[in-house]
Amino acid sequence: MAEDFLYFIWQFQYFRNTDLRTEEGETLRVIHPGYRNPDSGPDFTQARLLVGNVEWVGTVEAHIRAGDWLLHRHHQDRAYDNVILHIVWEQEAVVLKRSDGSTIPTLCLSQRVDRSLLYRYQILLAESGTIPCAGRIAEVEPLRRTAMFDKVLLQRLERKAAGVTSLFRNAGQDWEETTYQLMASAFGFQVNAEPFEQLSRQVPLKILHKHRDNLLQLEALLFGTAGLLPGTQPDDYQAALQREYNFLSVKYQLAARQLPAHSWKWARLRPANFPTLRLAQFAKLLTYKNSLFSLLIETDESAALLRHLQVNPSAYWQTHYRFGKPSDTVLATLGQTSAENLLINAVLPLLVAYSQHKDQPEYRERAVALLEQLPAENNRITRIWQDLRVPIQTAFDSQASIELYKNYCQAKSCLSCQIGVNLLKGFSKTIGI
Ligand code: SF4
Repeated sequence: MAEDFLYFIWQFQYFRNTDLRTEEGETLRVIHPGYRNPDSGPDFTQARLLVGNVEWVGTVEAHIRAGDWLLHRHHQDRAYDNVILHIVWEQEAVVLKRSDGSTIPTLCLSQRVDRSLLYRYQILLAESGTIPCAGRIAEVEPLRRTAMFDKVLLQRLERKAAGVTSLFRNAGQDWEETTYQLMASAFGFQVNAEPFEQLSRQVPLKILHKHRDNLLQLEALLFGTAGLLPGTQPDDYQAALQREYNFLSVKYQLAARQLPAHSWKWARLRPANFPTLRLAQFAKLLTYKNSLFSLLIETDESAALLRHLQVNPSAYWQTHYRFGKPSDTVLATLGQTSAENLLINAVLPLLVAYSQHKDQPEYRERAVALLEQLPAENNRITRIWQDLRVPIQTAFDSQASIELYKNYCQAKSCLSCQIGVNLLKGFSKTIGI
């Protein structure tokens, strides 16, 4: 038994509520159970109850055992002085008091809940499939599933936007610098996101902007500060980069900011993902003459945005994945799937953060519309949903399914999920609660 189940029972009033009496012997009627509190403090707020002849408005706290109140030291916490009802699964011989000494009424629910509902809940959580409801998700109406996808998609966008907003604050509230750092991290494609991000903090955009007409200098600043310029047996291109870097690193005092070469990861990466090629593509993106931020924020169509992101690096990188090792088969241009990945993980969170900053919902609506235009991602998590015959057709679906899987299914938070609630609610009708 988990407290989650108790919250669920109380929130939807799934217990026999005739002749309710508190453990202290007073009659009880629930006018409104209140709203689940996602923050610290009591579990439900704004509940309305009739205890005896007195109507109360306040908070409700739930515990498996009555004594948990003392264990959690709520009796010493003023935030719990407004609790008007303590709901418990198992009553214990304790009298609970607020900090002012007044008694808190307690309602014990274990004898009022249909055992088959509890049993069904326990079966759901004990499921050993890819997700707890794997065997039953097909029973859920598509509309319910869609509603949950909508909810988690917005949660995902807002969480990512919060990361962009924090970047924006640290970047001196400069959207251009924020976009640069965000795109740098995204060009690391998870494995090298961290060194890419560090690099973008070591070489501020204002320095790079001074050289955006000269791709070799941009590359020298980035490869040199990244610690990726090879020291021995340089070919002509490497020697030219080294010369430029030697000069520019003195000019901008960058030598002390150089990253150690071992910051970069190569193991198990396909050559197209090698940090050298990604850095060369990123350098090319920075040669864009106008504001990169405006370009990304003002372009409506996903196809146009993808075209902007599918940069083609300088000539050397048409035949090399890394320094000094020519290859006939280099896929130099940023691929379609990688560009979609940048759009989903960097550009759209940027749109949502900007929407919040300017209080202009149209940017957020555009982010959602773009997700609906993009094809679904194909990864381990989206394949789990597809195997369960849940349609994952657009990036909206794939992003929502990833969020749902990571933040609800894996944590077995089925009672906070509209799909799980729907499965148990549907069941409760069949047993006549
Ligand atoms: S969290 Fe929702 S979708 Fe995930 S397993 Fe539980 S009920 Fe199913």
